[in-house]
Amino acid sequence: MKGPFVIAVDGPAASGKGTIAKRLGEAFGLPVLDTGLLYRAVGVLSQRTGDLKDPEICASAAATLTAEQLDDPRLRTREAGELASQVAVHPHVRSELLEFQRTFASQEDGAILDGRDIGTVICPEAPAKLYVTATPEVRAERRWRQLQAQGEAVSLDEVLADIRRRDARDGGRDDAPMRPAPDAVLLDTSEMTIEQAADAARRIVEAARARWEAS
Ligand code: C5P
Repeated sequence: MKGPFVIAVDGPAASGKGTIAKRLGEAFGLPVLDTGLLYRAVGVLSQRTGDLKDPEICASAAATLTAEQLDDPRLRTREAGELASQVAVHPHVRSELLEFQRTFASQEDGAILDGRDIGTVICPEAPAKLYVTATPEVRAERRWRQLQAQGEAVSLDEVLADIRRRDARDGGRDDAPMRPAPDAVLLDTSEMTIEQAADAARRIVEAARARWEAS
């Protein structure tokens, strides 16, 4: 029996995957989970209660996480992103967050999840998989503009250094490293406006949906 229509949107920080996931949600009428928020929330909670390097402290923060905690605007800060990528290296944190993500993905009408390992680990059976990229320089500029709009005082160089550090940590970890699934469609948004990227993503997903319906 075929499962629900799940769209996996993976890729590095500030590649445009969050906006693309939201636009796909509107276009296909599906709920969207930004899985980065889970890791951000665990990072913030673990920092409050103890050491980010302690896998058990971080895993117990992950175990107590509720959906309501994900609405906190403090999770959108630069610092929260950095904390997230530090706790995301712990396999026990990742396994604690697995069920929450799979439950979201199993909704009858389907769902969209954006993250780093959705197509490879969380939903390897997803009928539509996108891997959204852009050059580090383009991503740094996008993230810098976002942070400026949020009122965070930070230089473009610092943001580029953050992006490079996070790419190295997310791509280099042993458990669920950031990587395209073999059957993911790559979408490089470096030279695209957000409208063009969202349109390209919609066309890719429409094709996947037609294949899924015919299967
Ligand atoms: O996507 P976002 O920048 O909010 O993610 C923050 C961090 O959370 C990432 O740098 C990554 O370390 C971690 N993450 C992850 N797996 C996911 C989503 C995010 O490891 N599915």
